[in-house]
This record gives sequence, structure tokens and C-alpha cells, in this order.
Amino acid sequence: MALIQLLYVSSATEPLDAAGLARILESAVRLNNANQITGMLLYAGGNFMQVLEGEEAKVIATFERIAQDARHHNLIELMREPAAARDFSRWFMGFRQLGIEDARHYPAFAPFFKAGFDPASIGARPGLALDMLKCFSETVR
Ligand code: FAD
Repeated sequence: MALIQLLYVSSATEPLDAAGLARILESAVRLNNANQITGMLLYAGGNFMQVLEGEEAKVIATFERIAQDARHHNLIELMREPAAARDFSRWFMGFRQLGIEDARHYPAFAPFFKAGFDPASIGARPGLALDMLKCFSETVR
């Protein structure tokens, strides 16, 4: 079974409150559990960054479904690569909303999320997006 990691950024179509984000997360966790997909979702400044990992065909099918979701747009795929092992096996979908406090605590990452995720600056630094997702996944309670 070929394991892959797929990472993208996108923009919320409309600003999402806690209830809207919880609805997204509920269906993500439920369906990812069924598909044995793990990963992490970040929300900052109206933008999403998400990594999906699991069996290749299931990850691609899930990503294609996510890409059709009207709650976000401007999806940009930043990475799709084979993986030797899972990095996010604790979560069918971990979630963190990043804010001002995080910008203070994580100054090295702050320029890349405090005004939302900018795909050009993030994409220009290979490995940065995955490092951010791994770092913040360790802070999920
Ligand atoms: P429902 O949740 O009932 O949704 C049915 C359809 O309506 C879907 O096409 C959905 O896109 C759309 N929809 C639902 N609620 C709204 C709303 N409030 N406004 C507009 N359209 C709506 N799914 C996964 O399986 N795994 C993931 O990791 C995952 N991550 C996601 C991350 C983001 C940022 C977003 C926006 C969505 C994510 N989803 C994920 C959800 C995915 O896009 C589909 O909504 C979901 O897989 C379909 O769930 P469902 O079959 O239970 O249908």
C-alpha cells in the first residue's frame, strides 16, 4: 500500500466562526476515519492549510472531494509526495486556529501565517509548510 502526503492551502469563501469550523472538522474526522486518512488542518486569517496522509487513491479521492467544497476556494496544492511513514497518526484530522498569541510564540513561522497563508512565500521555502503543520500538531490538546 503506497502511502502519500498531500498538502494544500486555500481561502475560506466567507469568514468562518467556531460553529462553521466545527462542522467542517466533524465531517473531516468522520470520513477520514472511514478512509484511514490522518492529517492536520490549520486556519489563519481566513485561509486554510491542510495535510492529508494515507493510501494514495484514498488521499487523492478525498482531496478531489475537498476541492469541490464551496466553503473554500483558490486551492493551491503545495506538495504531493510518497511518505515512508505517517507524521500525523494521532489525528484523523487535527485542528488549530492560529492567532496573535501564536505569532508571538512562534516568531519563525509568524510571517507565514499572521496575515493568512501566502502560497507564494510558503511555496518558495520547501519543507516549511510541513514543518509548520508538524509544529502546530504538537500543540493540539
Ligand atoms: P456533507 O458534509 O453533508 O456535505 C454535502 C455537500 O455540501 C458537500 O459537497 C459539501 O462540500 C457541501 N457543504 C456542506 N456544508 C456546507 C456549507 N455550510 N456551506 C457550503 N457547502 C457545504 N472531508 C474529508 O473527508 N476529509 C477532510 O480532511 C476534509 N477536510 C476539509 C477541509 C476543509 C477546509 C473543507 C472546507 C472541507 C473539508 N472536508 C473534508 C469536507 C469535504 O469537503 C466534504 O464536505 C465532505 O467530505 C462531505 O461530507 P458529507 O458527505 O458528510 O457531506
